[in-house]
Amino acid sequence: MFENLKAQPADKILALMQMYKNDPRPSKIDLGVGVYKNPQGLTPVMRAVKAAEQELWKTQDTKTYVGLAGDPGFSDALIDLVLGDAVDRDLVAAAATPGGTGACRQAFELVRMADKDARVFVSDPTWPNHLSILSYLGMQVVNYRYFDDETGGVDFDGMIEDLKSAKSGDVVLLHGCCHNPTGANLNLSEWQAVVDVLRDTGAVPMIDIAYQGFGDGLEEDAAGTRLVASSVPECLIAASCSKNFGIYRERTGLLMAISQDPDARKLNQDTLAFLNRQNFSFPPDHGARVVTMILQDEALRTDWKAELEDVRLTMLDLRQQLADELQKLSGSDRFGFLAQHRGMFSRLGAAPDKVEALRTEHGIYMVGDSRMNIAGLNGETVPILAKAILDVGI
Ligand code: PMP
Repeated sequence: MFENLKAQPADKILALMQMYKNDPRPSKIDLGVGVYKNPQGLTPVMRAVKAAEQELWKTQDTKTYVGLAGDPGFSDALIDLVLGDAVDRDLVAAAATPGGTGACRQAFELVRMADKDARVFVSDPTWPNHLSILSYLGMQVVNYRYFDDETGGVDFDGMIEDLKSAKSGDVVLLHGCCHNPTGANLNLSEWQAVVDVLRDTGAVPMIDIAYQGFGDGLEEDAAGTRLVASSVPECLIAASCSKNFGIYRERTGLLMAISQDPDARKLNQDTLAFLNRQNFSFPPDHGARVVTMILQDEALRTDWKAELEDVRLTMLDLRQQLADELQKLSGSDRFGFLAQHRGMFSRLGAAPDKVEALRTEHGIYMVGDSRMNIAGLNGETVPILAKAILDVGI
């Protein structure tokens, strides 16, 4: 039977990682994969995570199954982190998932169960895995304009115009903060305008929030999500702890479904548990438990926030350095958008042949759509990248 399988398209980012590995040039620079790296190029375990893991090792006396929706303490802690007091807790159904990817997958499945004809509106561009999973599930996708290649910012008028064509029963997928792959984000009044369109059309928002704390701060990065969640009757939120807790491989995420009455909440809660059961049964617990311990312990929480803030400021500083260096070398402000972007990524807006030239001529690796991981830079490589960008004619 296996001969019937068809080769699947290779994941472009993983293929890029392999090419980087095979490149013998010592001066090569990896701006590809979406993992935070400190200026030494390492992705260390965060201090609070290590401390919580040590405590867990000492005190955990069983590894028996938890619940199908994971530990309710984890749900409570993460709902609090993402939503604050924006939404009545009694209206939020939640289930732990394997990472933010798992949360997105379960959210799409929930939508499909509720309405197999639902269309999902996605930003152009969006995280490629959104498209890949939606296509795998056979769901209809509608693109809405998002990135303005000219300005490096959001094409807000285009976005609103496209979202107006959504109908009741459609889903609008939004990035809560730190848009991947562009780095361009909505300000709060733009979020409000999106809320108005959602209310007018009756479309259901789904917010993917995978970088809370990487942009303008933990509270600031959740502001758009909180505004939407508190303004519309139904909302889905897929949250990831991979980046802000640095626990990528522990697969820690939460899917939240907000509705308007306790009966709908119960139905959502039961459906989320059912969907987990069908796909993987019990969600992973280790990362979720570590996150819960950190969020519930004042000292650990304070230390985690401090380290996360260092990470955020390091990336912000690199953005500014790169924008300044390009300004200095090119004598123009056309790269100023790099300092305005937030999160780990920026889309440079370069054509694929330029991205290839950066790789072949300079050993600089970024994704083909010119998305670069800002955290792949440091004080030494910023000037090298700036020079190379101008060298290849971007
Ligand atoms: N959503 C977006 C937009 C992302 O960039 C990512 C990570 N690349 C995720 C979700 C999910 O990440 P994970 O499954 O590792 O938590």
